[in-house]
Amino acid sequence: MRSPIHNFQQPASVSGTAERIAASWNSTAHGAPVRQILRGPLLQAHRTPLALQGGVPAATLQRTPDVDDPTRFTQVHEGLFVSTPSGGNLRPWVNPDPANGVAGTAEDIKNQFIAALRAHIAANPLSVGGTVPTRTTESQAETTAIAADQDIRATFPQITTPLPEARIRDVVDIIQPSQTSDIQFLNQWLENRLSLMTDIDEFNIRTTNPPDPRYEQMLADILADTWAGPNVRTLASRQAAFIEAGAKIFLHRGTPADLRRLILIHELTHFYTDQGFRDWVDATTAPRFYTEGFTEYLARLVMTPAERATRTNYGPNFQAIQDKVATFVPDDDIARAYFLGEVWRLEATSAVARQLFESQVGMREGAPRNTDVAESQSSHGIVQTVEEGSRYRFMNLAINQMAPKPEHVAFFEEIRQRHLDGHPDVQIRFVGHADETGGARHNMDLSRRRAEAFYQMARDAGVPDSQLIDASSPPHRGETEPTADNATIHGRALNRRVELFLVRGGIAAPLP
Ligand SMILES: [Zn+2]
Repeated sequence: MRSPIHNFQQPASVSGTAERIAASWNSTAHGAPVRQILRGPLLQAHRTPLALQGGVPAATLQRTPDVDDPTRFTQVHEGLFVSTPSGGNLRPWVNPDPANGVAGTAEDIKNQFIAALRAHIAANPLSVGGTVPTRTTESQAETTAIAADQDIRATFPQITTPLPEARIRDVVDIIQPSQTSDIQFLNQWLENRLSLMTDIDEFNIRTTNPPDPRYEQMLADILADTWAGPNVRTLASRQAAFIEAGAKIFLHRGTPADLRRLILIHELTHFYTDQGFRDWVDATTAPRFYTEGFTEYLARLVMTPAERATRTNYGPNFQAIQDKVATFVPDDDIARAYFLGEVWRLEATSAVARQLFESQVGMREGAPRNTDVAESQSSHGIVQTVEEGSRYRFMNLAINQMAPKPEHVAFFEEIRQRHLDGHPDVQIRFVGHADETGGARHNMDLSRRRAEAFYQMARDAGVPDSQLIDASSPPHRGETEPTADNATIHGRALNRRVELFLVRGGIAAPLP
């Protein structure tokens, strides 16, 4: 069985709530750690050493998707699997060499962390002082969690198996002091803070399976530091929340009500990750960083605009997903990757993505052409919401064929019920496309017949001619507008497609 990922809610201090959550009970109940806190996967980072000082702007959901760029999957792969979060290559971990005046990377990182921690505490003196009133009881946490979960599922129909209410009540707990004084917890806490406050994730050092001894020694040195050690212990004891993936969500009893809901949206979203997605994100250059990024990206879709405007937690993580992923693929694909393991919607170069594409869609890379042809017929139709209410894709049509697959027909039926039924002002236009195999002229004709077949599908579904635009001369593009790499089976499957545009405001609307 795979180890659960152990995730942390950003400390309350990020958005200035350290002052509000100033706990001071004694963490003396050590000795019986409530449960094992497992080491997370390879910790990688983002060059935002001072993120804890509150400099992260409230992120917006504005983006400019380039969902038509045929190189987009390669760009996503480069961003997550090749480069570091800040974009460069991993730097070598330098050992100390006192004879030549080299302190070494471990010492550099330790000093960087301590400097950032000093600055943080100077700016937020109460983060390590004062007392904390109880603002969140277990019962309040449960009630908030159940409502948050309803919002999550209303936002993401991709979630197929909801958590039962009784399970949510069981999952949500209040943090006990014995947990946060546990050495494994402290190490985990420190690893997360190093990722946020130092450049450690830019360096080539193994942090798991098993960790490099030099890395472990650095953690021990920081905890043993006479100034940093006690402050780390105090801050860790005020961690706003953390989870044991698939098992528990722990909330700090000092969490204020407004923050409680946002924390629970984020943490509960974690609970719905697909195993395939976790395997995939574990293979990136920064598993923990990107896990939090994807989770926060989706969590913010659940939050109200007002909540989103105040949200600063996981700012750099969120921003990285926005820049490296959401620029190239629609949110629906991100959700399907996260909740259903369809990570091949994001990139198709990594081994995990290729394997999941093969098992979920049913097409194999490197098969002989006649196998390709057969598998293109038996494999699943792929559907995509490019933009809800205005643009959709029907992909993986069979090679040299035009008929929609059952998945396409079912998806169109959903769209029809949502947007066409009872909306005579909404009209639709299909545009046919082909992959690059075969002659250009053949593909042009094939793409026309594909569009034609989809107009027929719409008529068969009961859409009146008055809502069909250009049905008499179906728009088609042949192989000229690929949105994926024609050199791979994945790319060709996505290029063999029909696109659907919903048009409001009349028949004269121009072809997109
Ligand atoms: Zn998280």
